[in-house]
Amino acid sequence: MKGFTHVNATSVDEAIQLLVKYKGRAKLNAGGTDLLGVLKDRILPDYPEAIINLKTIPELNSLVEDEEGISIGALTPLIDIIDSPLIEKTYPLLREAAITVASPQIRNMATIGGNLCQDTRCWYYRYPEELGGMIKCFRKGGKTCPTVVGENRYHAIMGAKKCYAVCPSDTAVALIALGATLTIAGSKGTHTLPVEEFFSSLGNVLTPDEMITMIHIPKPSPIASQTFLKFTLRKPIDFALVSVASLLNLDKGVCTDVRLVLGAVAPTPVRAFKAEEFLKGKELTEETANEAASLALAGAKPLSKNAYKLEIAKTLVKRVIKG
Ligand SMILES: Cc1cc2nc3c(=O)[nH]c(=O)nc-3n(C[C@H](O)[C@H](O)[C@H](O)COP(=O)(O)OP(=O)(O)OC[C@H]3O[C@@H](n4cnc5c(N)ncnc54)[C@H](O)[C@@H]3O)c2cc1C
Repeated sequence: MKGFTHVNATSVDEAIQLLVKYKGRAKLNAGGTDLLGVLKDRILPDYPEAIINLKTIPELNSLVEDEEGISIGALTPLIDIIDSPLIEKTYPLLREAAITVASPQIRNMATIGGNLCQDTRCWYYRYPEELGGMIKCFRKGGKTCPTVVGENRYHAIMGAKKCYAVCPSDTAVALIALGATLTIAGSKGTHTLPVEEFFSSLGNVLTPDEMITMIHIPKPSPIASQTFLKFTLRKPIDFALVSVASLLNLDKGVCTDVRLVLGAVAPTPVRAFKAEEFLKGKELTEETANEAASLALAGAKPLSKNAYKLEIAKTLVKRVIKG
């Protein structure tokens, strides 16, 4: 690893001041489970001059519920979310997603903010410099995405334009289905953003002087059914090939409201708006589940080796609808 300055930030203001001071040449460190691997493998063209440690800001590690919903500090470890009786009772969808992340050791260290901001796992993007040199793909300022003519079996089947890497975050998929929002702090103050608007084709919308401080989940209807399904090749410690999260309100078997989100199929999590619209007012039968699954994947354009993800995604959509 190259040398860098390490600073323990003691407040959000101090962390923002440091981001401003280093003008894009500093990285925030939360649990470090993603960042340290990225730095050790030297996958990025620019190495940071400074690492700003966020774990020294105690108020960012919190779970507070009120009548509106729950607020989760960005530095809250995934294990605290999984172990929280509040989350288990009212927001089980988030728990179901968090418990599928990596291994117990990683979930002890990894934070919810870091899980949302983690870098993609595309194997071209992550190619270590020591093995013959860094691959300068489109995401790193290169001209092309090597996946188009290369090994693309785990890559995007929809929504990609220049980069086919998928968003690896499992908690993002659950948080979008739950209608969560983020508080983002920066040098111009704080603002709120729905999680579904946070992701962009090459990562997220944070500017170099911004960070996530809080995640807010509105209280779902107590009778809403919440489901998270994740398909992986291996059972333990594996990223999603496809995941689906749903928040479904039913009245006597008829869908009154639904939020349906797909993960690992595109550079960002994908809200299946057409399927949601179709399902509202319908009885949930085999037929409606089939139609909703087709609508959810209507825009898909698989690459040469990943059409199989389309079938997995349709199957997961059908399963979350049929319960
Ligand atoms: C073996 C392995 C298996 C894994 N499997 C899965 C999986 O199945 N599903 C899954 O979702 N993830 C998986 N992960 C990824 C893991 O979940 C992430 O590494 C972890 O969630 C990142 O959290 P962290 O707190 O350690 O972030 P860090 O490593 O500290 O940071 C990650 C990135 O987020 C930025 N960041 C951190 N906090 C903030 C903040 N508050 N505001 C703005 N930027 C911030 C950092 O600057 C950095 O760029 C796996 C990782 C490993 C190593």
